[in-house]
Amino acid sequence: MYTLGIDIGSTTSKCLILKDGVKIAASSLVRGGIGTAGASEVIEKVFEESGLVREDINAVTATGYGRGHYQDADAQVSELTCHALGARFVFPEVRTVIDIGGQDAKVIAIDEFGVMKNFLMNDKCAAGTGRFLDVMANILRIPVHELESYAARSSTPAAISSTCTVFAESEVISQLAKGVDTADLVAGICVSVANRVAALVKRLGIVPAVCMSGGVAQNSGVRRAMENAIGGDILCSENAQLFGALGAAIHAFRTRNFN
Ligand code: ADP
Repeated sequence: MYTLGIDIGSTTSKCLILKDGVKIAASSLVRGGIGTAGASEVIEKVFEESGLVREDINAVTATGYGRGHYQDADAQVSELTCHALGARFVFPEVRTVIDIGGQDAKVIAIDEFGVMKNFLMNDKCAAGTGRFLDVMANILRIPVHELESYAARSSTPAAISSTCTVFAESEVISQLAKGVDTADLVAGICVSVANRVAALVKRLGIVPAVCMSGGVAQNSGVRRAMENAIGGDILCSENAQLFGALGAAIHAFRTRNFN
């Protein structure tokens, strides 16, 4: 049995096909989220990669900010549920999931059975989200996937005192003008995002094991800063950006098998 999960985010569409609820058969990721052709392209890509066709798929669950716009789904489920399911599939021991996406950050507490117990979310402010990193990367003219290598070269992260993205943008520009090293600026930007989200984690309560999900999890600069901020290790997978789509595919499998 094949089930498909699609996660239509604010910046990126992700898709994953699961075989018999246990094996990842194929996955795809396309830049372009809600309101773009990203959703149809990511589906096309996953079928291309897997060699499967729509008729092979037994159930589809959609998640993400754009899930309501996706007509070809049997169910639409919140990102909180899907990130919790996806994270637990990869890390069975996980109790706290930190999801940092393109426009929000969520911290999810799950119990030993994988059920979501509680969550906190920042969807009001770009600071502490991927958006903050995207804006800063743009000013520094560094591709977002290269931020981590700059951060790794810094031994003294620059202090970014503004918590507002717009003011922080001016602050970064003025530090650049003063000749502050780009690596230190990038490291400071990573620390700023990590500290904002760590405040949410601490409010919810840190229960190990902790893992990161969402696109920003790929940035080791943010990951390391987050470990410093919460005072403990964070599990991370190279598939972290796909956890929502994975959780959606698991949800689709369970709906078929347990209802
Ligand atoms: P959404 O679901 O809201 O579209 P994602 O979880 O897909 O969000 O994450 C998107 C964010 O991930 C982007 O805003 C960007 O900052 C970050 N990101 C994407 N790819 C990378 C990468 N290779 N390295 C570091 N950060 C990345």
